[in-house]
Amino acid sequence: MDLFEYQGKLYFARFNIPVPSGEVANTVDEAVGAADRIGYPVVIKAQVQVGGRGKAGGIKLANNADEARFHASNILGMDIKGHVVRRLWVERASDIAKEYYASFTLDRSAKKYLGMLSARGGVDIEAVAAENPEDIAVIRINPVDGLDEATVKQWVTAAKLDAEAFDGAVSILLKLYDCFVNGDADLVEINPLILSQDGRVYALDAKVSLDDSAAYKHPEWDEYRGLEVIDEREKLAKEKGLQYIGLSGTVGIIANGAGLAMSTLDTVTQVGGSAANFLDIGGGANAEVVANALTVINTDHNVKSIFINIFGGVTRGEEVAKGIIEALNRVELKAPLVVRLDGTNADQGHKILAEQGAGRLQIAKTMLDGARKAVELAGGN
Ligand code: GDP
Ligand code: MN
Repeated sequence: MDLFEYQGKLYFARFNIPVPSGEVANTVDEAVGAADRIGYPVVIKAQVQVGGRGKAGGIKLANNADEARFHASNILGMDIKGHVVRRLWVERASDIAKEYYASFTLDRSAKKYLGMLSARGGVDIEAVAAENPEDIAVIRINPVDGLDEATVKQWVTAAKLDAEAFDGAVSILLKLYDCFVNGDADLVEINPLILSQDGRVYALDAKVSLDDSAAYKHPEWDEYRGLEVIDEREKLAKEKGLQYIGLSGTVGIIANGAGLAMSTLDTVTQVGGSAANFLDIGGGANAEVVANALTVINTDHNVKSIFINIFGGVTRGEEVAKGIIEALNRVELKAPLVVRLDGTNADQGHKILAEQGAGRLQIAKTMLDGARKAVELAGGN
């Protein structure tokens, strides 16, 4: 679950990470009221879960109530990269001397935590990583060992932060690590981490992604529910009990088994396409489950073709084929369908698909062949 900036800052504050004090506002009047209480100058910040709000005009400085009213009314309702601003965060403005970058996330392949620190913050860190990777000091942390102060000091030195920021940065990084681990986050990112004109180091922005699998340990996370940005496709899939993850490509994918579903995604990517989703319908492929899967994929407007990739093991090919045909009788597809069916009794399955699915689906011999057909039908990317 991704948090909004203001929720992230409040989460940071629980772990004693210094953040500017501020208030949430849902209306222009609330924003002006908050600004009056906080004291000018204030910064009015759009609360949307997308980066680059500053450049998009979603972050403005206000020196008095009139300016606060003007900016709040402009920013509320603004569309930032497809995200409409419904809420503002008003905080005491900062006098920035330097902007840094700090984050912790997972390095899955190394099976370690990954810490990144850079003296070049405030900007798009992906650009820094691409153009000047040497400007990002990276550490990998064995979760069993944890992170000690001596290591953090070396890290801050390696990142070449300014001397005035050294102690503050060390202290914040230790707390940020605590927040990451004990706060059960998948990602904590501060961009920018600032050194203020008066020599303080604190978090000016907050990006926090919580690990949903740890939600049972955190009753306090309930307050975030209802405010979270919900993917309608994922919501429907959840209601239907499907293992579904929405993605942004054009080929809708249905496979049985998580491994096969992931291989299917890879194969679609390999032949130049892009997956609209991950969807594992599990061992069986009965009409009910396939119909549910197709219904979810139908709601995705980006889908230009659908690829069903089934390997019959215990579930026999002819049963799978009957299930698919029955599902097609129930659900009207909004995109052309390619089916690859292999494994137990695949031949009998093909016969049923060819006879009863004629005009409604194309049969592919292999996963690669199916991926090619589906990507072609989707019109490439
Ligand atoms: P983002 O654009 O969505 O990442 O939003 P940020 O919260 O990171 O703000 C973007 C930029 O706005 C920062 O890097 C700062 O340069 C600037 N900014 C944000 N708050 C303040 C502030 O209180 N004072 C000043 N001077 N600049 C600010
Ligand atoms: Mn930022």
